[in-house]
Amino acid sequence: MADPSQSDGPVTDSPVAFGEKVLALLDTGSFTTSYKYALLLAILDAVLEESDAGGQPPRTLSARDLGRRVFELYWQQARPYSDAGPLRQSRQRDLVIKTAELRERLGLAQHTSVHRARQLHPREIGELEREVVATVVRYPVPLLQRFGSGARARAEPFIYTVAWDGPVTPSRVHRDDFDDRLRLLPGAAEHLITLTGLLRPVVEREWLRHVARRNEGRVDELQLERFLFGAERISLEPVREPLLHAQQGRCFYCGRERGPWEVDHFLPWSRLPDNRLDNLVVADRTCNSDKRDALPGLAHLDRWWDRLDTAGPSAAQLHRIAEQLNWPRRPDRTAAAARGLYLHQPAGALLWAAPGTVEALDRTRLHQTFAGVTLAAEDSERYDEDD
Ligand SMILES: [Zn+2]
Repeated sequence: MADPSQSDGPVTDSPVAFGEKVLALLDTGSFTTSYKYALLLAILDAVLEESDAGGQPPRTLSARDLGRRVFELYWQQARPYSDAGPLRQSRQRDLVIKTAELRERLGLAQHTSVHRARQLHPREIGELEREVVATVVRYPVPLLQRFGSGARARAEPFIYTVAWDGPVTPSRVHRDDFDDRLRLLPGAAEHLITLTGLLRPVVEREWLRHVARRNEGRVDELQLERFLFGAERISLEPVREPLLHAQQGRCFYCGRERGPWEVDHFLPWSRLPDNRLDNLVVADRTCNSDKRDALPGLAHLDRWWDRLDTAGPSAAQLHRIAEQLNWPRRPDRTAAAARGLYLHQPAGALLWAAPGTVEALDRTRLHQTFAGVTLAAEDSERYDEDD
């Protein structure tokens, strides 16, 4: 729904100027905790995953939803880093430490996903999640867009304004009548999507340095990067055989029946960390290692997009795999992210076609690909990670 109040504030002029402001935030803002980094990454994911059928980004974001996304990020980072326990991200007993404490108290294994933990311990996980959500709404959301630190810090909203006035109590954050919307300023969401491939690695690098500084002597930066942001933080091994079977024993990209087989993120992990079933395909090692962080070409996109169709031939199989493995799905969000990522590529952007081969993006064909497909509403509810 269009919201007439969303057009307040300055119009951001160009993607470059916008990107420079995000960098300036990272360079000059006050970062006593890592909450602002987590919030920025959550915003990047949310604008992609909430794009509409035409690839248009949302005009508002739910602050509570962003809080839940932050909780999912911290869930992984709060696992033990070594025998000395979790990494410290601030001097306080912050959300990461509280999450680590709960993980330990519940005796959860390293790789237990938040999806699984919610099923096993709904009350305990729910309580902590509410605390994380309230903290995100009360602190990093109002404080993110400040340049400089201390008394001379300057607040300058250029990404969003908030729908509420002044400080809020934790209990008010969770009341039904609390309006938790962030109104995205004109152009901001488009810029975030256009720049996501550039901004995400920069935010991750700054976050990594923040953590490295607080854990000097304990961490190796390469290992730390994998620990904080790596795709392998959840083992994809269980889906390999069932997905390969659904692909008739063939590589998703080249169709050859020759492994070794690897699970690949169709939408590259570096642009959207999405481990849900619809974003996973099986590829032979040659294709997978050549594709790396590129967006796949349109022939691949066509086949993958058909897979999302509830009326399509793969629908029942994917549904069964998700049920059997208790693997999360959000076909609506994965599809929205695909539309957002592809439709915001400039004409002529280079896509990965085959090992050693790229193709220029054909926008007319791209619109044809996205024209059809019925998405599985019931699946997205059954496997909803957010409720
Ligand atoms: Zn292949």
